[in-house]
Amino acid sequence: MGLDVSWNFTIEMRREALNFIVCPNCAGELSLSSDASAAAEDGHMMTGSLVCRGCAAQFAIRSGVPILLPANLASFQLQTASRFAEEWTRWSDLRDYYEQEFFDWVAPLAARDFTHRVVFEGGCGKGRHTAIVASHGASAIVSLDLGESAFVAFAHTRQFPNAHVVMGDLLNPPVRAVFDLAFSVGVLHHLPDPAAGFASLASRVREGGRVAFWVYGHEGNEWITRYVDPLRKAITSRLPAPLLRIASILPAAALWAVIKIFYRPRADGKGPARLPYSDYFAALYHYPFDEIHANVFDQLVTPVAYYLREDEVRPWLASGFQDAALRSHRGYSWTGLATVCRTKAAVAE
Ligand SMILES: [Zn+2]
Repeated sequence: MGLDVSWNFTIEMRREALNFIVCPNCAGELSLSSDASAAAEDGHMMTGSLVCRGCAAQFAIRSGVPILLPANLASFQLQTASRFAEEWTRWSDLRDYYEQEFFDWVAPLAARDFTHRVVFEGGCGKGRHTAIVASHGASAIVSLDLGESAFVAFAHTRQFPNAHVVMGDLLNPPVRAVFDLAFSVGVLHHLPDPAAGFASLASRVREGGRVAFWVYGHEGNEWITRYVDPLRKAITSRLPAPLLRIASILPAAALWAVIKIFYRPRADGKGPARLPYSDYFAALYHYPFDEIHANVFDQLVTPVAYYLREDEVRPWLASGFQDAALRSHRGYSWTGLATVCRTKAAVAE
């Protein structure tokens, strides 16, 4: 699927990416096909397609992005990805406040934890976190996304020699198990099987490396699961994206007004006590309207969104890890961090 597309596009990819990527079907080594030419602009780039040395499958490199989709990819996964691509191509610029937001989500991980590390990102969207991690001196970051948004992410990160964007499936990630750190922010809850997505993410971390994630919580989101979710499933996830963009302006304006009137952050950055989503909405207080609009659109556009209970998420870290920690982030979501220790699993079993 998707392998016969666009052989004629301008194609370029950094040679260093070959140190990390493998065939999505058999995990075989990939090499540049014989039509490849050491190219181009600055010595970093090259053109060509990729061939698996194991099963001989061929993969295009399109607009700078290796297309490493597995043969067995389910069509509804592509559907979810294409819905989000609508968001990332529309609200495509990178904003200053993304950095604070990212380090809030992944805390206690901080910028220094990415420096000189080989990092894997499961689900990069428009590349906002890829750019942050690359700019903090990661040795390399390989970022995966299933949809067309990979091209947006590539455009945002092509100036970083340490950033590599790949199109592929997080449930079948076409990368080696060599990473010091893997993270996934805001993505696992959109997979058909979030637990499998986490296991898959962690499987690409080397022994002793770390894995981090942030997902929607069930706790603190009862309002969404009760009133918004049915609407999303029945109507909004089926609307054409341009129509949904328009339809989400009104609820976004209402939300923006509520935030401006009731959620002015206190000196310590926290929100007013006794209001729902207090700290979360207070953090949005200074955001421009179009960011609130993008957030509302994001909630309504996807066909798949799980709001996960603590007792659903905690078992993800039960075996094969040490120093595992799960924390509630602002009362409506879960952040997890753990060190991969596969021998521990072997002893426990
Ligand atoms: Zn293969």
